[in-house]
Amino acid sequence: STKKILISACLLGEPVRYDGKSISIKDKTICYFQQQGYLVPVCPEVMGGLPIPREPAEIIKGVGDFPDRKVITQGGFDVTEAFQRGAERTLEIALQNNVIAALLKSNSPSCGNLQIYDGSFSGRLIEGFGITVRVLKEAGIPVFNELQVSLLCDFIEQQG
Ligand code: SF4
Repeated sequence: STKKILISACLLGEPVRYDGKSISIKDKTICYFQQQGYLVPVCPEVMGGLPIPREPAEIIKGVGDFPDRKVITQGGFDVTEAFQRGAERTLEIALQNNVIAALLKSNSPSCGNLQIYDGSFSGRLIEGFGITVRVLKEAGIPVFNELQVSLLCDFIEQQG
């Protein structure tokens, strides 16, 4: 059976990022995966209903009665629900396609798997992961970022 891999659409050159741009990565392995039809592109934020372009957003720690994480735009709008909806839609697509892993854009409040911005909109990264990554991990789907393609390949090989 084919090995499907979920991928952040912006990594395939789709202009879905908050700034309306893409970040096409010229990675031979990813090109190969794409040619083989292994890749399932998703943009959780767009699937959650957010427009392109959109305000940058970061995850902040909740306070008081709302200890869970929230996603706030730079202008102060709470977009947590859209991010959560996008994450759930992404999981549905992952399950429908029986993906064995995800290759998602680093540092994004949706897609980041190791680091995210700290919520102060000052460009500072902290350890943590995005809203979609949390949902995928909870479903047992391993998440790699675009700098971990060789790790992803090792993982795929281990799967046989
Ligand atoms: Fe890329 Fe993910 Fe941001 Fe969409 S939500 S633009 S796929 S990093």
